[in-house]
Amino acid sequence: MSKVKYYYDSDTLSYKKIERRKRNTFKYASIFILGSALFGFLFVFLASQFIQSPKERALARELQHMELQYQLLNKKMDEAQAVLANVEQRDNSIYRLYFAANPIPEEQRKAGFGGINRYKALEGFDNSKIIIEANRRMDILQKQIVVQSKSLDEIAVLAEDKEKFLSSIPAIQPINIEDMTRMASGYGYRTDPFTKVRKFHYGMDFTAPQGTPIYASGDGVVTRADNSSTGYGNHIRIDHGYGYVTLYAHLYKYNVRANQKVKRGDLIGFVGSTGRSEAPHLHYEVFKDDERINPINFYYGNLSAEEYSKLLEHASLENQSLD
Ligand SMILES: [Zn+2]
Repeated sequence: MSKVKYYYDSDTLSYKKIERRKRNTFKYASIFILGSALFGFLFVFLASQFIQSPKERALARELQHMELQYQLLNKKMDEAQAVLANVEQRDNSIYRLYFAANPIPEEQRKAGFGGINRYKALEGFDNSKIIIEANRRMDILQKQIVVQSKSLDEIAVLAEDKEKFLSSIPAIQPINIEDMTRMASGYGYRTDPFTKVRKFHYGMDFTAPQGTPIYASGDGVVTRADNSSTGYGNHIRIDHGYGYVTLYAHLYKYNVRANQKVKRGDLIGFVGSTGRSEAPHLHYEVFKDDERINPINFYYGNLSAEEYSKLLEHASLENQSLD
């Protein structure tokens, strides 16, 4: 119920009632409603700047959680990087060194990505920095792994070659020797059994009864098994590759033919005294790039250190060879 308002009329000297017109009432009501609406809207707008809605709070929480996850991710990448660095270090200083491959330079392993900005799409957000940083590190890590993986492929090939090389080169004695007394004469100046003249003996002589088995000292191909070389009698030559050839002379019998492939330890023939020989024995030679070298350096495969030093002692005695 609105108040009734009066005014003092100085002409009539009396109070008169103020009559409110209907139109004015409507105008005031409109202003009041509009003002309220405006104020309400302003209030909500301002409140929204400082007070979060439940949905906003949830999103903020999620964002916080995501930032934390990115930090953890960065930490995990640190750890992965440390492990990879260790692998790279071993790769460069052990594996590649062992197989005589050049180490991969640090710049090549850690090279970033030049040229265009790969992370443009990630720019312009509040969290751009942390996201770009994580992406950049992940990309580098990925590249490092690719470089490392390629290096290991290379090492695997080299290791396979090395294995082939190691099984090919002469590395064991060509006959079984229970006691070293069978090593009759070594490489070096010896007295010729026939002329009694001091001359160079290019192989090693092992005395053994006729028919004693002779074994290939490394993998290879038999290039000769005949008696058409002066002095050697029945003899076998095995080409081991890598410039190595071994020769087994004065044989009684062959157990292989020319062009046959043999493995280290295969029985290839039997001891005899054919050719220029004084008594049954095996004359054994090792060639490297067509030069005859001392076979004593190629027995590491089946001798203990003690046996080897005994053999060395025997082999260095300047006695008479059996040729
Ligand atoms: Zn000899």
